Amino acid sequence: MTRRRQIYEGKAKILYEGPEPGTIIQYFKDDATAFNAEKKGTINGKGVINNRISEYVFTRLSHIGIPTHFVRRLNMREQLVRQVEIVPVEVIVRNVAAGSICKRLGLEEGQPLPHTLIEYCYKDDALGDPLIAEEHISCFGWATQEEMQDISSMAIRINDFMCGLFSGIGIRLIDFKLEFGRLFDGDFSRIILADEISPDGCRLWDMETNEKLDKDRFRRDLGGEVEAYQEVARRLGLVQDQSANEVLDLDSHRKKREPK
Ligand code: UDP
Repeated sequence: MTRRRQIYEGKAKILYEGPEPGTIIQYFKDDATAFNAEKKGTINGKGVINNRISEYVFTRLSHIGIPTHFVRRLNMREQLVRQVEIVPVEVIVRNVAAGSICKRLGLEEGQPLPHTLIEYCYKDDALGDPLIAEEHISCFGWATQEEMQDISSMAIRINDFMCGLFSGIGIRLIDFKLEFGRLFDGDFSRIILADEISPDGCRLWDMETNEKLDKDRFRRDLGGEVEAYQEVARRLGLVQDQSANEVLDLDSHRKKREPK
C-alpha cells in the first residue's frame, strides 16, 4: 500500500495530497494549542466533532452562495477540499467584546460592540499573528484591494448567516476567525473560504447561561472541553441525543477496522 504524501502539519490539522490534482485531504487532529502554542494539550474526540461541525457550516454557507474549498467529508476525521493558496491574513469577526480585544482596548468581556468589527492579523506563528491594518495587506502584497473587497463582504455575509444559525440553537456568536484562499483557474484566481469553522476558532456562548461552548474552556482551564464541543454538535443536530458519546464511539470503532 502506498503512503500518501503529507503536505503540511499545523496545530490542529494535517494536510495530505488529495486523490486528484487540485485536491487536498484535511485531517482533523485532537491536538489543541493556545497562546501561540505556548499551551498544548489534547481534547479527545475534538477532531471528529470539528470535522462534522465544519462540514455542516461550510455546506450551509455554500447554500447561501459563499464559495468554499469544501468538497465532501471522507470519514470521521477527514474531508476532501480544493487546493488553494492561503491568503496569509486571519480575518476576525467580532460581535461582542471578548479575548484579545478586551486586553488591547480595556473593554469588559461580554459587552456587545456598537457594530460588527472586522480585524485582520498577519498569519505568521513566529511573530504571534500580529494585528494589522488593511493598509499593511495591500502595502506588502498579501492580498489586492479587490480581493480584500471580496473577503470583507463575504465575512459580513458569513457572520449574518452564522449569527442566525447559532441563535436558532440558543448560542450567541461572540467572535470567530476565518481564512480565505485563492483558487486558480488558468491565469485567473478567485477568493474562496478555506480552513475550518468549528468551536476551535469561534467563541460560542450559551444564550441563557453565558456558558462557554468553545476553545476558551481549554485556554482558561475550565474543563469540559469535549462536552462543550459535543453540545454544539448536538444542538446542530449532528449527534444523536441518546448518546453524547456516539461520535467518539464511532470513531474508535472505525479505528479498529481501518488499516493504518
Ligand atoms: N482565533 C483563532 N485563531 C487565532 C486567533 C484567534 O481561531 O490564531 C479565534 C478565537 O478562537 C476567537 C477569535 O478568533 O474566536 C478572536 O480571537 P482573539 O483575537 O480574541 O484571540 P485570543 O483571545 O483567542 O488570543
